[in-house]
Amino acid sequence: MYDFAIIGGGIVGAATAWQLKARHPGARIVLLEKEAECGAHQTGRNSGVIHAGLYYRPGSLKARFCKAGVRAVIEFCGEHGIPFRQPGKLVVATDEIELERLQARLARAQQNGIDVHWLDQADMRELEPHVAGSAAILSPSSGIVSYRAVTETMLRLFTAQGGELMTASEVVRLSEDQSGVRIRTRRGLIRAGYLIACAGLQSDRLARIHGLDPGVHILPYRGEYFRLRKERSDIVKHLIYPVPDPALPFLGVHLTPMIDGSITVGPNALQGWKREGYGHLNFSVRDTWDMLSYPGFWRITSRFLGTGLREFRNALSKPAYLKGVQKYCPSLSLDDLEPHPVGVRAMAVDRHGAMVDDFLFVESARSLHVCNAPSPAATSAIPIGEHICERIEAKAAS
Ligand SMILES: Cc1cc2nc3c(=O)[nH]c(=O)nc-3n(C[C@H](O)[C@H](O)[C@H](O)COP(=O)(O)OP(=O)(O)OC[C@H]3O[C@@H](n4cnc5c(N)ncnc54)[C@H](O)[C@@H]3O)c2cc1C
Repeated sequence: MYDFAIIGGGIVGAATAWQLKARHPGARIVLLEKEAECGAHQTGRNSGVIHAGLYYRPGSLKARFCKAGVRAVIEFCGEHGIPFRQPGKLVVATDEIELERLQARLARAQQNGIDVHWLDQADMRELEPHVAGSAAILSPSSGIVSYRAVTETMLRLFTAQGGELMTASEVVRLSEDQSGVRIRTRRGLIRAGYLIACAGLQSDRLARIHGLDPGVHILPYRGEYFRLRKERSDIVKHLIYPVPDPALPFLGVHLTPMIDGSITVGPNALQGWKREGYGHLNFSVRDTWDMLSYPGFWRITSRFLGTGLREFRNALSKPAYLKGVQKYCPSLSLDDLEPHPVGVRAMAVDRHGAMVDDFLFVESARSLHVCNAPSPAATSAIPIGEHICERIEAKAAS
């Protein structure tokens, strides 16, 4: 019998496991991961950006966790020798509408207490001669890291403290009674006094097999990237972002210097037909049926039909994809774009078709399910893990 079982070896599960074990060294804790290795899904397939927290609604968990997360992840990397850099980020306006939106973004970042600076065109060009636009916001603390490396280190600390890691252990059934939770994995049965599920793209399903109603379905959104060819990897020094459209949930295709020295271009946001599908032609009957039979899918799809079709066209056509980037980096050409692995985002949508913007936790007497951990959950993983530990401890004390 374990005291705690954690499902999911992505960065949220790893951050929780490591901190929980450090806070309760005598407890028996197991982390269950369905893949042969941890960090294989969202955690290992993202932009690697340490977000400063410019955009999030003041007072939201996203804003709070992100601000604390930047400090925490940088401290963690420093302490454990994980490479990271803080090149800073420019959010670039290219027309009048974007300029107006940029001003609103500046105000929000300031409300969130983030260090940001307004740059006019000349200042911007001085920092980034290849970037075109009328103005920009500079966020000096935005950084880059490999979240897979961060996750591996957290898991190493967890097991070094005596935590148990079971990979290739997909959880298929859950049942709860007064003394704890029975967890059926593909490798056998486990009992734990308390369960924490951090299952990313499968989080709603885990809650449902536990008999809980998360109130949302996870819809998969593919994020397709290119990588700039090596000779172009000095084209920008900062992370270069377009001004996000407030009506859309994603940040837009950006140029991101990665910690390995390359620069990625992306990601776009394309409806996926398989939650963990990373090839070109991915389709899962189960995932697709789940979506098509969910009213929230139809409502959100009709609301974003225009954007969805545009993203689809750009995904089919490299020149169309490039055109979006050339708006703020005109010297890039088709030859500069090389293939790069795809990521899939878990987007939690309610039955009315509303996207859940903030973190979402669903609880029973003996469990906590993280049912929505959207970007910037990688940046924020350490404070999220801390928050989960505190919630469990408060429950145990009451
Ligand atoms: C394209 C893209 C770009 C992004 N860019 C950024 C960024 O730059 N900065 C940032 O901060 N965030 C970014 N994010 C968001 C960030 O990557 C995610 O929010 C974060 O990784 C979520 O972590 P997680 O642990 O919740 O989920 P995941 O990493 O998906 O991990 C969930 C784990 O649960 C396991 N699991 C699922 N079901 C079961 C089961 N039944 N039994 C056992 N195990 C199970 C899975 O195998 C997986 O390993 C990005 C995301 C994407 C997709």
